[in-house]
Amino acid sequence: LSARKPFIAGNWKMNPGTKDEAVALGKEIAGAFSSSTPCEVALFAPYPFLDATVDAVGSSGVKVGAEMAFTEGKGAYTAEVSVSMIKSVGCNWALAGHSERRTLFGESDEDINKQVLNLLNNDVGCILCIGETQAEYEQGLVGPICTTQLKKNLLGVTPEQMANVVIAYEPVWAIGTGLTCPASEAQDVHATCRSVLADMYGQTVSDTVRIQYGGSVTPETVDELMAKPDIDGALVGGASLVAEKFSRIINFEE
Ligand code: PEP
Repeated sequence: LSARKPFIAGNWKMNPGTKDEAVALGKEIAGAFSSSTPCEVALFAPYPFLDATVDAVGSSGVKVGAEMAFTEGKGAYTAEVSVSMIKSVGCNWALAGHSERRTLFGESDEDINKQVLNLLNNDVGCILCIGETQAEYEQGLVGPICTTQLKKNLLGVTPEQMANVVIAYEPVWAIGTGLTCPASEAQDVHATCRSVLADMYGQTVSDTVRIQYGGSVTPETVDELMAKPDIDGALVGGASLVAEKFSRIINFEE
């Protein structure tokens, strides 16, 4: 049995539309998290709702994080949000490198690397999202793309800091599309990522780092995914906005 504690996270993206809805969703999810839930759980919420979502989950044990954090500490960066800001409202996790940030907002591997280092240097945990586009998938480039992203995005991260890093493998073609990567295919990519991490950091880090799968995970697909030896959790978009669905996902059948 793996010593890695599974970790399932919800990425709310630019949802829900109001603070009241965010609070209600956070409360319902926290209510479904119990001592028999087989994983750590985190909710990544929009900035204006972070504070209220932290309050909503209360002492349930559900973590709340930001969907990204800017690389500078403070200053003239209109509309950006710093790590100290998110920490000050009780968030000790953030996403970095989500495919929507890469493709819609032009974040480069170097930008993402700076974000990752900034989070870790400030003792904030980081879920680093990697994964290939549909075109790259069709060209058989899954392994090389994931390898390149891991190497470029984790440049300068120490083996000790890897204790605060979770990898989310998210095939871009499966995000928000309803297309799930077959569990056996995802398992192969996770195993490849783990061997890249072994080359970069050695066996101990590779054996302990958690690798989530992301891409249209639902209550119907989670159990099979979680049964795979190198799949240690999930990053969930759409289904994390429906309390009933996300509650079933975090209480997956082992
Ligand atoms: C995501 O945004 O990380 C994601 C996996 O979304 P969805 O579950 O909706 O595909």
